[in-house]
Amino acid sequence: MHAVKSEAAILAGTGTDSSLAASLAAAIDPLKQQHDDDHEYNAWRDEHPCILQHFDTFLERVNGKRVAVFLDYDGTLTPIVNNPDNAVLSPQMRDTVRQVAHLFPTAIISGRGRDKVEGFVQLPELFYAGSHGMDIAGPKDDHSNLTPHNFQAAAEFRPMIDQLYHDLCKRLQDIPGASVEHNNFCVSAHFRNCATEHWQQVVVAVNESVAAQQAQLHVTRGRKVLEVRPQVDWDKGRALLHLLEVLGLQQQADVLPIYIGDDKTDEDAFRALQDHTGIGILVSTKAKPTAAAFTSYACSPGDRTSMGQSGLSSGLTMV
Ligand SMILES: [Mg+2]
Repeated sequence: MHAVKSEAAILAGTGTDSSLAASLAAAIDPLKQQHDDDHEYNAWRDEHPCILQHFDTFLERVNGKRVAVFLDYDGTLTPIVNNPDNAVLSPQMRDTVRQVAHLFPTAIISGRGRDKVEGFVQLPELFYAGSHGMDIAGPKDDHSNLTPHNFQAAAEFRPMIDQLYHDLCKRLQDIPGASVEHNNFCVSAHFRNCATEHWQQVVVAVNESVAAQQAQLHVTRGRKVLEVRPQVDWDKGRALLHLLEVLGLQQQADVLPIYIGDDKTDEDAFRALQDHTGIGILVSTKAKPTAAAFTSYACSPGDRTSMGQSGLSSGLTMV
């Protein structure tokens, strides 16, 4: 808890030890040496600097601001794992998120079903936005000073999503390694465990399943997953802005929202922050187009820590 109060003091603008931050950032960036001769990667890193190596810049931007924190789940708080049901949150990461939520309004915005993410995270003091933000609820902590809120942007699509899930289960059942996940208001077709030669079969099956309802459903691509969502004007960015409004923090010069995510659907949130002077942080080891201002590396699945050791945790422990 001492570290949390120190972080609060720094975010309030009372100073920081820049040499400590820089030395720690250098020590914990395992990609630096690997990419020393990779000009494309280094140009990308110049444009989207590693937040840990530029933590002073980050602190300058948050100095004196009221911060709200928005977090993706898979690949951000946990490593990407072969079986989505095994993407459990480490005790260390849970403790880190708990500390963040103690300081700032905090929400998880995930493509997963809200109930599943709530089950993984087990922190009732948070807001949760499942199904890419289409299913929002929280906090459920009786001691929270935040008003509980519920909102479902695509409730009328639930029967159609149920039907789609059952159809996709049938279509993918004979494709080795393929799996289907019901995320309440969207459906994920995973091909992470498929041999490469079967990937196209999954794409074809999903497209065929959606074909009859193209006016109402659309398909997006994530990290070895296809996600079918209702055709509604709603995404993680809209969910973030909705939560800011719920919190009474929208369009205020002294408010600074921060979003951390790793995948294409997180770009909607990064773009929303660009328009609202927030800070996006992309978790990635690879150079790729992003609207995020900063980046952070992701750990290998074996580390079981993902963003925790590189971003949130380091921010809390380096002071
Ligand atoms: Mg993710």
